[in-house]
Amino acid sequence: MNIFSHTEAEFSAQFAKGKLFARDLYRQWFKKGALTLTEPAFIQAKACVEAIVSSCDWTLPEIAHVTKEGDTQKFLLKTHDNQMVESVAIPMKTLMTLCVSSQVGCRMGCTFCETGRMGLIRNLTAAEIVQQVFAAKFLLNIPIRNVVFMGMGEPFDNYDEVKQAIRILTDQNGLALGMHGITVSTSGKTEAILRLAHDKDIAPNLAVSINAPNDALRSKIMPHNRKENMAKLKETIQAYTQITGREVLAAYVLMKDVNDSLSYADELADYVRDLNVKVNLIPYNAQSNDRFQSPDNEVVDAFLARLRSHNIRVLLRRTKGRSIMAGCGQLGNAVLGGKLTQIQDRMRL
Ligand code: SF4
Repeated sequence: MNIFSHTEAEFSAQFAKGKLFARDLYRQWFKKGALTLTEPAFIQAKACVEAIVSSCDWTLPEIAHVTKEGDTQKFLLKTHDNQMVESVAIPMKTLMTLCVSSQVGCRMGCTFCETGRMGLIRNLTAAEIVQQVFAAKFLLNIPIRNVVFMGMGEPFDNYDEVKQAIRILTDQNGLALGMHGITVSTSGKTEAILRLAHDKDIAPNLAVSINAPNDALRSKIMPHNRKENMAKLKETIQAYTQITGREVLAAYVLMKDVNDSLSYADELADYVRDLNVKVNLIPYNAQSNDRFQSPDNEVVDAFLARLRSHNIRVLLRRTKGRSIMAGCGQLGNAVLGGKLTQIQDRMRL
């Protein structure tokens, strides 16, 4: 049994005799990041405690590489099958937010995204998702408060493992993150958005990548739009907010001369006007092959002002971690030895 795959209740239930010791071991592991078996209660019940410890896999993830830019840190975890999983710790005011991956690669093929160019290699397990948070907290000593599923992968293509990871991350006997501090970001998979709306076990924040104000443009930059168009997405977001009573974050990556004109801002305002959403503007990060350009600051400011003039609620996320390729849409690249290497190329050698 892998300790990272279970909530405390699931873990302890495996040990009919030593249930209370199992709970204490679980708590210790996720609160301190280590086991101290020298505590008097554990010494008294040595045989029972040892039986629990030896029946479980406590293997820590191996950190293959860490890159830093200021307080932003990107790290790679190496999986048992030699895949690289990327996570980025980003300072947000006084808290640290960890951007985690849910897949190795992604099959959604968004044209502005490095990960999208890799294709899907495989889903991550719940344990591999939880390990990203555990490694940040206890191996790199980063005080993580929030977790966003905005790293590699479409989380809703891996719903069950992402759900289990959220249950583990929010377990009060474990890492005890607040559900309100967890955000799942999707490229717009409507069936899964509705599944989340009806899910009684988890209630994370939801972010949906909009990125264009009409079908013609959105289908060009997000091929998934050809299967599920913007009308369907809007209807789904409406249903989600009505069922849950929760606001949705509508992410819009601004790309120079692609979707950053004021007429697009007007169209976007029309699209979101009657939705319970807040628009999250994210200026595009220039990438290794520069297929798209970053918008000028004045254009970003004008786009923001135009949305606000329509009374749309907007957040602007200034890029952090650009030089280490850890900004939005940049996971899938690694800076190794000062030299940019595409993980994709290494994977396919
Ligand atoms: S933006 Fe997200 S959904 Fe789109 S290809 Fe990249 S990782 Fe996948």
